[in-house]
Amino acid sequence: MEFLILAVGNELLSGDTIDTNSQWIAKKLTQNGHKVRRMVTVGDVKEDIVREIRNSREDFIIVTGGLGTTPDDLTREAIAEALKKPLIEFREVKRMLSQYRIDDEIRERMSLLPEGSEPVPNNEGVAPGFIVENILVMPGVPKEMMDIFNKVIGRFGSESYWEEWIETHKKEVDITPLLEKAVNKFPSIRIGSYPQKTEKNGKVEFKVRIKISGKDIEMVKEVREFIERGLSS
Ligand code: AMP
Ligand code: MG
Repeated sequence: MEFLILAVGNELLSGDTIDTNSQWIAKKLTQNGHKVRRMVTVGDVKEDIVREIRNSREDFIIVTGGLGTTPDDLTREAIAEALKKPLIEFREVKRMLSQYRIDDEIRERMSLLPEGSEPVPNNEGVAPGFIVENILVMPGVPKEMMDIFNKVIGRFGSESYWEEWIETHKKEVDITPLLEKAVNKFPSIRIGSYPQKTEKNGKVEFKVRIKISGKDIEMVKEVREFIERGLSS
């Protein structure tokens, strides 16, 4: 399946918070054989959330952020508007929230979800997540997001996936011809190269981490051997 990950929050755009949610979700989906087609970050701006939901052509959308109780939390309203569904009260959510000592008005607001939603319990915090049509919506707090996502990921199914890593101290320019050869020889396998330059005690060190991944385990291993042979020759 192909996914859009939509991170919502002004704090992400101002640089106050690093978007670790998208990275964590992307890794999980990738390792289950799915493809994350795009990651998009928007502020707590209703029209921007609505636009991204409506423009998405991916099979499924994962949204994090903006499910809290403060006036800047607009994700619930935005999803309802994008899908042209009313927000209706979910008794089930109200019951989930009854264990918390929160203001009645806040409880009322949190119990409103787009019509047709399925609430997903949040064992790490107050606001439940929800699934509506092909959208999963979760709070931004990483622990809460992870708790909810882990409950849902199984539904997306999984496809065969394998990855292998190689590290080399050669420079990226020097290994490019070898990687090109591998890409041409094994077109169904993805080969990524992540160069790094580190400085330790005034000594500059180059390192390239090469990632080989794909659906065919045996072929991924074959590519690994092909590249390793090339690096040592
Ligand atoms: P929210 O659900 O939007 O009220 O977010 C609550 C808190 O979660 C924020 O104050 C951030 O610290 C954190 N948070 C929100 N979005 C993300 C994200 N994409 N990655 C990491 N932390 C986040
Ligand atoms: Mg927020």
